[in-house]
Amino acid sequence: MAEAVQCVLEARCLTRAPRETGDLLARRRQRAAQIGAKVEHVGSAWIKSAGYDEATGTMVVTTAAHEYGHRVPPEVFSEMSRSRKPGRVFNQVVRGVAARVEISRCERCERYTADLTAHHCPPKEAPRQHATPLQNELSRRRFLGDS
Ligand SMILES: [Zn+2]
Repeated sequence: MAEAVQCVLEARCLTRAPRETGDLLARRRQRAAQIGAKVEHVGSAWIKSAGYDEATGTMVVTTAAHEYGHRVPPEVFSEMSRSRKPGRVFNQVVRGVAARVEISRCERCERYTADLTAHHCPPKEAPRQHATPLQNELSRRRFLGDS
């Protein structure tokens, strides 16, 4: 069994907290805490998607029927996302072991957060889709100044 998983079972990692000083860092941290966790597809029959909110140490796992929030160290999340059997890791190390966190999903940015009223959607990400040939042609014309 991997060390990260082992230490969670013994609750060793849970006492380790990052140390930061200064108001600015605290504010930035607090703001980051309000962004929440973005979930991504997981290659598992049972777990649909999973994500991790580093600011609050919250792991989000969604299945067809449920959405789970748990407080775990980041090692557990990376262990689970790397595993070929994430559902098994979840059942062995997280479910019934780690503290549950109530989570809700933001309808706008689709992130999960423990506190929806304090939540801020993250800054808009650049659009991922590629421009169509027509859009390319239109911007070429704009650039050349003929329309
Ligand atoms: Zn949002």
